[in-house]
Amino acid sequence: MPTRAFNGGVHPADRKDATSAHPITRAPVPEVLRVPLSQHLGAPCSPLVAKGDRVVRGQVTGDVEAMVSAPVHAPVDGEVTDVGPVVLASGARVVAVSITPDEVQEFDRFEPVERSESVPETVRAAGIVGLGGATFPTSVKLQPPKDMPVGTVILNGCECEPYLTCDHRTMLERPGRVIRGAELIAKAVGATRVVIAVEDNKEDAAVALRAEAGPGIEVLVLPTRYPQGAEKQLIWAVIGGEVPHGKLPAATGALVHNVTTAAAVADAVDEGRPLMERVVTVTGNVRNPGNYLTLLGTPVEALIEAAGGMSGEYGRVVAGGPMTGMALADLSVPVVKGMGGIVVLDSGDTAPAVHGDQPCIRCARCSDACPMMLEPYAIGIYANRSDWDGANRFHALDCIECGCCSFVCPTRRPLVQLIRRAKQVLLEKGASL
Ligand code: SF4
Ligand code: SF4
Repeated sequence: MPTRAFNGGVHPADRKDATSAHPITRAPVPEVLRVPLSQHLGAPCSPLVAKGDRVVRGQVTGDVEAMVSAPVHAPVDGEVTDVGPVVLASGARVVAVSITPDEVQEFDRFEPVERSESVPETVRAAGIVGLGGATFPTSVKLQPPKDMPVGTVILNGCECEPYLTCDHRTMLERPGRVIRGAELIAKAVGATRVVIAVEDNKEDAAVALRAEAGPGIEVLVLPTRYPQGAEKQLIWAVIGGEVPHGKLPAATGALVHNVTTAAAVADAVDEGRPLMERVVTVTGNVRNPGNYLTLLGTPVEALIEAAGGMSGEYGRVVAGGPMTGMALADLSVPVVKGMGGIVVLDSGDTAPAVHGDQPCIRCARCSDACPMMLEPYAIGIYANRSDWDGANRFHALDCIECGCCSFVCPTRRPLVQLIRRAKQVLLEKGASL
């Protein structure tokens, strides 16, 4: 099937070899889990448990009636020792339920969610969100607007971020679950076509998926290029549809879900399994890099210990991948639903901090690399002057925060940070796409 190349993009060293061949193993249960009640885009949950309560694995500990939301479940049997604030990797302060786990845990036993005939209802009960990092509640995406019929479901198995291999391992080790999830998603939205997109640095995953796929499911291998897995770029590559300015991707007739999300949908529908844990790639300067099945709420520092601890010099610990992830100031932050990786970067891998007034030499490399065809240097200059109208004229809100512009800038202007700030201010001022 012909595919279309998106504009711009970059080829960072993928550094996936350290973990891509390692089977998923379970990370130890930490001494205390702090499970945030807001691990999704949308309204935060309210606690349904209090200090001193006993909880069992799978029990709902927080929920809210808002449409765009997802409940939170206890990942272990144990006792609630606190319900109070916690700081996330993003720096946001939210309420979390702290649980001291029982000494013995039976991971195969959990309180199943109430399943219904409706896939979106079951998926909501299971607390599933976009596990590729977007954390948008999956149940909402499974109910597209009536005037935007979905013809094609695209499962995103590109995992184009350097270092990360959690989706790769899921496709290799659980291909049947990914395929089953794809079928359930397609049925829920009424799509007639299903395409699973994989980059060509994961050919073995494509082979594993094809071996399980029925006749209605295509496995499409795309060239490796960052950010191939970004939603708009992926839709363009697979169906040639361009998301109209200011519209939802569903306006193209395509709906994108991550492969690991699809496997979680299958587990929720078939087993009633709530989202209590996820696979996290722990890599970079750690002694035992690998993919760890991690209970949500596990402190990042405990997960790094599970991977043998840090080795050598390190310059920065990043939650997520190095292109779009967040540098952590505090390693006690909890693992959350959208956290696919912890990358301990070498001091040689991290650029020294620079400021917005670092000169722009008008080389245009950032514009050439931008997959959204923006002029990042211009948005950066306006944002640095707090000229938000100027940033808006250059379409700051169209930025997908992929990091390509910062990656190529020879003077290391902090373009993404500047553009992110401009977007934040513009949204606060009520600007729209
Ligand atoms: S301006 Fe935004 S979309 Fe364009 S390269 Fe930079 S981060 Fe990516
Ligand atoms: S890449 Fe950097 S130096 Fe070159 S035009 Fe863009 S902001 Fe300016």
